[in-house]
Order: sequence, then structure tokens, then C-alpha cells
Amino acid sequence: MLQRMVISQFPEIYRIMEDSFSDDEYRPYEEQLALFEEPEYGIYYMPIGSESLESQVPDSALKDKPAGFLAVWEFAEFIFIEHFAVDPKLRNSGTGSGMLQELVKLSKKPVCLEVELPDAELARRRIGFYERNGFVFNDYPYMQPPISKGKSPVPLFYGAACEDVNTIGGFANWVQDWEYTICPHCGKPMKYLAQIQWNTLMDGTEGTLYIEFCPDCQLVSMQHQQT
Ligand SMILES: [Zn+2]
Repeated sequence: MLQRMVISQFPEIYRIMEDSFSDDEYRPYEEQLALFEEPEYGIYYMPIGSESLESQVPDSALKDKPAGFLAVWEFAEFIFIEHFAVDPKLRNSGTGSGMLQELVKLSKKPVCLEVELPDAELARRRIGFYERNGFVFNDYPYMQPPISKGKSPVPLFYGAACEDVNTIGGFANWVQDWEYTICPHCGKPMKYLAQIQWNTLMDGTEGTLYIEFCPDCQLVSMQHQQT
């Protein structure tokens, strides 16, 4: 069962974070710690010794230590997983899969996250892992701004455990290939603004409406895609 982290466990969680992410993907210790002042931020962990791991952990002193953690932002409409990692010593034991599915089941809200681009073998495997757990990925990347001062931006993919989400801002979950309307006034590609799933407006409808705009000319376009 996932447990809510208490502050005394944070050093252990931070160690797993350091072992699991590249430098540009997490904040310095003090900055990570300061996030607990935000009411939406929280960390859930799976204790070592949860069912699937019992046989591998004879030492009862290890129990209640985190085998892995999920750092999440919980908003009214959705949950965003910012960091998710399993202790490198305990990987490939099904822990990660169990944690993710438990969160999706308990949350009753859309769960979304970001992953690295599938250039390297490890990143490809990571995307495969999420897809096996029911996540759907956007097929083009965007740049995550630096997570902390002195760090670099990271190109990432966005994925969600639910396709039927209406969103404003961020980026589109294209049904077909990405598509930006050319502004008829200035000739530049428009910027994406929002997506609306037709079936959330009217029963029996299909596809997605994408709204884009040109900030210079103050024009808006709408286009529809479906499978
Ligand atoms: Zn324009």
C-alpha cells in the first residue's frame, strides 16, 4: 500500500531521487524540501516489505523504508506526477508498476506525467513501462524550463492515464499528426491554446476540437481531429 511520506523520511527519498534522475531533473535538497509548504505537493512511498517484496527482505529493520516514491502535485482536476522512482537496488520487482496502478486507482482523477525523449534505450523502456500501465503519450516533445537556478532546460514528452481531458494551455494531445493553422493575416503558425473533447459536450460525438490563436493579429482558429 502507498503511504504518505513524513518529513523524517525525506533524506532517504532524496537519496533515491539523486540515484534516479539527471542533475537537471530535480532541485537542490533545500528547494525540494521547501515544496512541502505547498498544499498541493506531496510524496507517497511504497515501504520495503510490501507484499511483492517480502521474500527479498529478510531484515525487518528495513521495513517501512521506502522502496520507491511518487512525488505529486494534486490539483482539483488532475494529479501531476513530478518524480517517480524505485530504489535502483529494488528495480524490476514489480514495485513501480504496483505503485503507479495504485495511484491511478485511488486518485479518481486524470493522472499525468512527463518522460524523457525515447532516444536512449533506457528512455524507450521507460515509455514502454508507462504504456503497459495504461498511459498514452503525446508524440512530440516540448521544453521543460530549468527546474532550478543554474540548471538546464530538459526536452520531455507528456503522457496521461486518461485521453479524455479538456485542457487549456500546455500542449495538445493530437489524435492525428500535430497541426498548426497558418495565420491568414501574418502568415505565421498559430499557437496552441486549448483542446476540448467533443464527447464531454455531447453524447455520441467523437474526436477533439483544437483551439489556436495568433497573439499578434488576435485571430483564433478551431480545428477538429478524430481517428
Ligand atoms: Zn497573425
